[in-house]
Amino acid sequence: MLRIGIPRGLLYYQYYPLWSTFFQEMGMEVVTSNPTSKAIMAAGSARMVAETCLPVKVYCGHVIELVGKCDYLFIPAIRSIQKNVYNCSKFLGLPDLIKAVVPKCPPIIDVDIDVSKGKVSLHPSSYEIGRWIKPRPKREKEAAKLAWESHLAYIKAMESEMVSPLEYLSGQKPSLASQGNEHFTVALIGHPYNIYDEFITHRIIHRLNTLGARVVLPEMAGRDLLAAGVVKVVGRPYWTYEDEIVGAGGHYLDADVDGVVAIVSFGCGPDSTMIDVVQRYARRPGARPLLTLTIDEHTGEAGMVTRLEAFLDMVARKARRRSA
Ligand code: SF4
Repeated sequence: MLRIGIPRGLLYYQYYPLWSTFFQEMGMEVVTSNPTSKAIMAAGSARMVAETCLPVKVYCGHVIELVGKCDYLFIPAIRSIQKNVYNCSKFLGLPDLIKAVVPKCPPIIDVDIDVSKGKVSLHPSSYEIGRWIKPRPKREKEAAKLAWESHLAYIKAMESEMVSPLEYLSGQKPSLASQGNEHFTVALIGHPYNIYDEFITHRIIHRLNTLGARVVLPEMAGRDLLAAGVVKVVGRPYWTYEDEIVGAGGHYLDADVDGVVAIVSFGCGPDSTMIDVVQRYARRPGARPLLTLTIDEHTGEAGMVTRLEAFLDMVARKARRRSA
């Protein structure tokens, strides 16, 4: 059976159900790397120039973990998934970047997803996968249909406020539903590959829960409110995945939450422009308090916890004042 490797990094957190269902339904085995560890991060960092953002270094570590364990790697080059909205250059060049830096890299299925050019969309029926592997056409069509259904079911589950992508993908028990013992609600915003990678963010969702916060996530707001958040803050989207920071910020800074924590990557051009507009939006009277945490491979657990504790102290004081 042909083994397809899907690294557990970057867009894994958005599209794993879509891509894994597609390949499995065509009769292939899907192999995934283990959750991020110190060794995975170190292996990826060692192959990349220092200025590269942490998520790409971590992704490279996941690819290295899959070398020798799969026949093909699935690494699409995602240029655009919406007209006139652009992706970060790392996503455009990801397959070439990986080929250049990973020794003994397996052949890469580097589907070029580019909606702006009206060619390949996220829907697997447009991938022309026969260029790499030869599935039976009827089976490929059915696999694409089932994969899309699985993608839609995933999005719906995320909006249910009961489960985080991390829990959904790993089959863990949902923990985000209110336990009834939280003192305040905090929105955690950022790219899924940052906020759901428990290693690089030192289990931030769990930490916030432990510190007495109920956590709400970008996906829970739903696509329409996130899109409205982008329009409110910047007028129209420019970056793909802008809704994860600008949209979620625009929505939650005005919503019924006590504070917003944003995670951004050090060395990321798009994140630095996106967080700048969110920080400006947060300075308006009446906006919820905002804490920005910038992460790289040197981000220490103690420093992050100290900042979270100080932020939640302030959030609690504000919440008390509001209810007095
Ligand atoms: S958007 Fe930023 S963090 Fe994400 S891959 Fe691009 S440079 Fe890295």
